[in-house]
Amino acid sequence: MQEDQAPDIAMMSSRQQRLTDRMTSGSEAVARWRDWKWQLKHAITTIEAFERVLGVRIDAKRRKKLELAVARFPLSITPYYASLIDTSDLENSPIFRQAFPSPAELQIERYDMRDPLGEERDSPVPGITHRYPDRVLFWVTGVCAMYCRHCTRKRKTGDKDLPLSKAALRKAIDYIRKTPAVRDVLISGGDPLLLSDERLDWILGELRTIKHVEVIRIGTRVPVVLPYRVTDDLVAMLKKHHPLWINTQFNHPREITQSSREALAKLADVGIPLGNQSVLLAGVNDCPRIIRSLVHKLVMNRVRPYYIYQCDLSEGLAHFRTPIGKGIEIMESLIGHTSGFAVPAYVVDAPGGGGKIRLNPNYLLSWSTNKVVLRNYEGVITTYKEPDSYEANFCDRECDECELQLKLEDGDEWRAVGIEKLLADFDSTISLTPEGSGRRECG
Ligand SMILES: *Cc1c(COP(=O)(O)O)cnc(C)c1O
Ligand code: SF4
Repeated sequence: MQEDQAPDIAMMSSRQQRLTDRMTSGSEAVARWRDWKWQLKHAITTIEAFERVLGVRIDAKRRKKLELAVARFPLSITPYYASLIDTSDLENSPIFRQAFPSPAELQIERYDMRDPLGEERDSPVPGITHRYPDRVLFWVTGVCAMYCRHCTRKRKTGDKDLPLSKAALRKAIDYIRKTPAVRDVLISGGDPLLLSDERLDWILGELRTIKHVEVIRIGTRVPVVLPYRVTDDLVAMLKKHHPLWINTQFNHPREITQSSREALAKLADVGIPLGNQSVLLAGVNDCPRIIRSLVHKLVMNRVRPYYIYQCDLSEGLAHFRTPIGKGIEIMESLIGHTSGFAVPAYVVDAPGGGGKIRLNPNYLLSWSTNKVVLRNYEGVITTYKEPDSYEANFCDRECDECELQLKLEDGDEWRAVGIEKLLADFDSTISLTPEGSGRRECG
């Protein structure tokens, strides 16, 4: 089957019809199918249910291991997402691989970590991870419509301490209120769009009363796994809280269906800028052509490819990991070959909690005091002659007197951080030494 003929049509495909028939009896099937609460209520949470609903048999030998994997990391697949599985080639279906457990999840490798990104260590109050000074991750729930087998937060999903109680949400919001440096709040989970409209409206409304919160983002996989959650009521509520951005996670072009297109259009029509964060997954999308097709479909639906993540070192994900070289190869096939705005940034989230690190192929080949040698996507090697007459603007951070006329209306003082500090005129730091290096101890 062609990838652009994903088995989801405006009404119901025959496959979906068969699925609903197995799960309901007769009438009003279409209306039920498109009711997100019906989808959640009928989520597939056991191996038996999966076999029954899809009409497939899982090998008895694998079954035992699969049961163990499910006991460790919960299973939940919406009937909608299950309907995208091509059962004629079950094991290779990118949908199946993201949704259905694998015995490989039980193999914990030497380098695997429970919390590779140190999200718990950087948590000042429950529900908040504050790593970058100006933005926070705000975990509002542990529940997802579908539990992705590749989830970096496998340890968290299905967590009993989440969703946060209203009191706990209040405490987290108070932390943001008391921390004026936070200008960007990223609501995450779990899937925030699984909260009720009322609860979400309340959270967004509270955040909007905080003056220093300039933008709010929601990270959600709902457009991919439960597009019917994007109702007219939901978007009418969301649009009251602008500037609001939404990032979703399409990993394969086959996930873009008529229903997901409709969900994306509803969100875009109320003025929400949409981004996409894919995860690079072995056996699912580790192919330049698949990613190129994906980013093209995304931009046709007004979704800007934002990130492509290197798979994290979380436990049980070893079978999904590719070498970083695969990501660089994919970036090489995108940059210059397609529209600039269709190219995501390739990032590795630093193990140990260093945040995201962007990686690119090298385009800077060499340079001298007056020339830079660059190459383009075609391999053309070119030179850029540096200006002879450039007068560097010495910066002593006296912006009021600077001829560049940055009008700092209500600007804050800010310190240079990291490498930026080494480049700054006003800072005399000449080197950075990692904490715990032997040198410091001897010195
Ligand atoms: C990813 C992430 C953010 C947001 O990072 P952006 O690069 O701004 O999208 C913020 N906090 C944490 C802890 C994150 O992991
Ligand atoms: S939707 Fe996100 S948080 Fe939920 S299981 Fe998938 S990747 Fe994890």
